[in-house]
Amino acid sequence: MNVNQQPHMASPYGQPQSGYQGYQQTGYGNQHVPGGYPTPYAPYNGPASTYQPAPPTVSQASASAAYTPSAPSSFAPSSAVHSQPLPPDSVAQTAPQPFYGAPPTPPQPFPGAAPPFSAAGPAQPPAPPLGSQQSFSQAHPPSQPQFTSAPPPVSTASYGGPPPTTQASHPRAPPLTSQPSTFSGGPPPTSSPSQYPQPMPQQPPVSQPNPFHSGPPQPTTAAGFPPQGGPPLRVPHPGVQGPPMTSQGPPTSQTNHVAPPQPGMLPGPPPVNMAGPPIQVIEDDKLNKGNEPFVTGVRGQVPPLVTTKFQVKDQGNASPRFIRCTAYNMPCTSDMAKQSQVPLAAVIKPLATLPLDENGPYIVDHGESGPIRCNRCKAYMCPYMQFIEGGRRFQCGFCSCVTEVPPHYFQHLDHTGKRVDCYDRPELSMGSYEFLATVDYCKNNKIPQPPAFIFLIDVSYNAVKNGMVAIVCQELKTLLDYLPRENPNVASNIRVGFVTYNKVLHFYNVKASLAQPQMMVVSDVADMFVPLLDGFLVNVAESRVVIESLLDQIPDMFADTRETETVFGPVIQAGLEALKAADCAGKLFVFHSSLPIAEAPGKLKNREDKKLVGTDKEKSLFQAQVSFYSNLAKECVAQGCCVDLFLFPNQYVDVATLGVVPTSTGGSIYKYTYFQGQADQERFLNDLRKDVQKQMGFDAVMRVRTSTGIRPTDFFGSFYMSNTTDVELAGLDCDKTVTVEFKHDDKLSEETGALMQCAVLYTSCSGQRRLRVHNMAVNCCTQLADLYRNCETDTIINYFAKYAYRGVLNNPTKNVRDSLINQCAQILACYRKNCASPSSAGQLILPECMKLLPVYLNCVLKSDILHPGADISLDDRAYLRQLVSAMDVAESHAFFYPRLLPVHKLNVEGNALPVAVRDSEERLSKGGVYLLETGLNLFLWVGANAQQELLQNIFGAPAFSQIDPNMTSLPILDNPYSKRLREIIESFRAQRSRYMKLMVVKQEDKLELIFKHFLVEDKNNSGGASYVDFLCHMHKEIRQLLS
Ligand SMILES: [Zn+2]
Repeated sequence: MNVNQQPHMASPYGQPQSGYQGYQQTGYGNQHVPGGYPTPYAPYNGPASTYQPAPPTVSQASASAAYTPSAPSSFAPSSAVHSQPLPPDSVAQTAPQPFYGAPPTPPQPFPGAAPPFSAAGPAQPPAPPLGSQQSFSQAHPPSQPQFTSAPPPVSTASYGGPPPTTQASHPRAPPLTSQPSTFSGGPPPTSSPSQYPQPMPQQPPVSQPNPFHSGPPQPTTAAGFPPQGGPPLRVPHPGVQGPPMTSQGPPTSQTNHVAPPQPGMLPGPPPVNMAGPPIQVIEDDKLNKGNEPFVTGVRGQVPPLVTTKFQVKDQGNASPRFIRCTAYNMPCTSDMAKQSQVPLAAVIKPLATLPLDENGPYIVDHGESGPIRCNRCKAYMCPYMQFIEGGRRFQCGFCSCVTEVPPHYFQHLDHTGKRVDCYDRPELSMGSYEFLATVDYCKNNKIPQPPAFIFLIDVSYNAVKNGMVAIVCQELKTLLDYLPRENPNVASNIRVGFVTYNKVLHFYNVKASLAQPQMMVVSDVADMFVPLLDGFLVNVAESRVVIESLLDQIPDMFADTRETETVFGPVIQAGLEALKAADCAGKLFVFHSSLPIAEAPGKLKNREDKKLVGTDKEKSLFQAQVSFYSNLAKECVAQGCCVDLFLFPNQYVDVATLGVVPTSTGGSIYKYTYFQGQADQERFLNDLRKDVQKQMGFDAVMRVRTSTGIRPTDFFGSFYMSNTTDVELAGLDCDKTVTVEFKHDDKLSEETGALMQCAVLYTSCSGQRRLRVHNMAVNCCTQLADLYRNCETDTIINYFAKYAYRGVLNNPTKNVRDSLINQCAQILACYRKNCASPSSAGQLILPECMKLLPVYLNCVLKSDILHPGADISLDDRAYLRQLVSAMDVAESHAFFYPRLLPVHKLNVEGNALPVAVRDSEERLSKGGVYLLETGLNLFLWVGANAQQELLQNIFGAPAFSQIDPNMTSLPILDNPYSKRLREIIESFRAQRSRYMKLMVVKQEDKLELIFKHFLVEDKNNSGGASYVDFLCHMHKEIRQLLS
């Protein structure tokens, strides 16, 4: 136990959490959802047919007749409010009603018994895996490299691509004990000869790592080998590298020697299935780590890669689905951290959806006095608290302060010092769980109202003409039956409201007692307010007939509109004011089509200027053009008003500015450029359905606490911060991540490791206040080699991308790129200098777990944000920048290094996918068909010589020339191949938070240009380097640093 009590810890952590203070106690916290986290909702099955829409009666006619959008001032000039009774006899309400909306459902009695939790007992830490690193001596290329940034002279012209990999004489990987490491990290065909003759003796097993909660941690072995993740044995297979380490080899000799491309050299080892570095690493990880569950009871284990399918067993640390770290063995000192330049960060996805075979966090109720916490740093009860004095007190793992155990929580200790109820209590034995929060944790000391969803629909000319209005209204009629709920058997208590707008706003009264909806127009958009309270936010079931009628009428009412101008600021203000009036949190769904040029707060002008790209002023393109929206965002966050924006632009709409509110409130932006009803509705509707139904929390505050020695210093994601510690999220859905960077403020200890606890306070969709807690412990090291052996490159890239994408707001993109290259060069140079065995300066030596750093880094550098081509719009760049800022590691991986599957090799018998190939044109065979997936896009590339049978099976077309390149879905054909391919496409879509539209790309077709943009190992049109060139460049940088 670390008993080092540093007074400085008190300042950031010693205070009661802002926003939680001073609340009085009441008996909140007795709502309980049996079985913990709710089961997933039933899939959305299309229209419900149990009700009859009210016929669009007379009232519709009167509404459209009475409504003159272009001349709102003809109504009641003295007031901005015009009530327009849709049915002749209804009376518009403008006075606030005392009671707003339906009361929350009565709390269900909480079964007083212990939480429904049974742990499987203490985890046997997995057998110590053998080292996954490798060392081999490099066969020196005859002449040491000309490391210039010029591509090596190679046979294929356009991609610096090596000759085909069919050359024969490469040694097959011999069996495990003598297997030479065949790192093909360099471009294989151009790398130096691949005979790495040095055999790799076995490494002795590392010491058994300790579960962090069982007594004092044991010191690591003398050699400093940290516990390694993964199964105990590596299964040898051809092309797999990295036999176990030798016992003689000090950690510093564990290296990857990558021979940079050498013109005229023999190609590297024969890639298996044409696999290259990323593919091989991904496949190795699947083989080594995908076969048994990842058990989280061992501190500092590097989890399987995001591309590996694996099961997680929570035995004391948060699942990697919730938290992934850049380093699982942090340097003990800040000097070491600075020397290595390895970023210390965690990518946290607090509400991540878990696979069906994994249990979600259990719900824990500590009673009326609320969750038990450290008196000093306020950390929540967790497995890192050490019970002492027979169980009467506990010492905090974060700040070492000793706190009394309240009598109702007392329990005896066993002979090892563990509480005897340890495994009956999630908060003592698991990495993730939820506390029921008491009223102390509620805003204004009041139990929250259930949240509300407000739909705000642009009904200007463009929005009507492209079909958006009709599609949204039609869809909402059924989608409203699938609002999020915690218990699938109980109706959602989320209330809904509707607004349409162009230059003016139309509010709708859809109170259940009305025969027809009523419209109220607010034309004074300068000072937005909500003209009605009673009847605006309603329960769907109660007001179904009126809502149905409204959604039927809206498309007709605006069918002939000629209004082209829109407002945007007042639209969000309207939603915000409605939530304020209802005293609840919620989400706005804004469906918007154009640049808001109408006279109103938040009015924008067209500032699109592509000439700024590449200049020092480029950064202004990513900044908001007015400060209005950041102020509005602040107000939204204070209310718990999350904003999701669906854009349907035909031209520049200034996403950089319109996106400010969504990205500050935990919201999402969706963009459907040149939206056309028929062609694009599938993607839009799938996105909308997912977005409306997804699990989310409202009015959330996230705080990350750490043990003495490090602290969170920087945060990335879609949120707002009004101080340096609290991440405020008006909404937080299951797809959003927050990336947290840590810096040292003291020394860390190898013995205790470094601890972090992420606590998210939020209101569930049923209106229950909860605290979700994720705990994570990592190791700490005094040897750089230990750090370099326990990094996670995909997470490092996720962090770097977010860091760089934020950097472009204030710096020229060139500077951002340069500093990124420089930092990575320093990381690798530090490794080379301090950890790698001596070798020729001509070799590029990479740590095993960073083998892919250069190839992925190049993808970030040449991405549309940092290195745009002429064909990408400013709006798309702003959009992608905002998107990446909240991405998890799996999504950023696919985004930067898309998955490319040779589907002509598909085996229709089994479930296995064909092994992916590298993202390079030279990997494409003319006779093949490939599926490329980026997380946002899906392409099916068809080679010109693809076999007739294959084309018949996929497309039902007898010849290449007869394939229709405009199809967006594959025909449903009755053959196993077609069936399997469509299944794969659906499974890819199911894995991503956004729907991927399928594009069929025929070789040599004009669409191929778009497809080739994603072949990220190749040089691209905008001057982005090929992997080969970039590797040479990196090597040059590293050598400069070392000399
Ligand atoms: Zn503490």
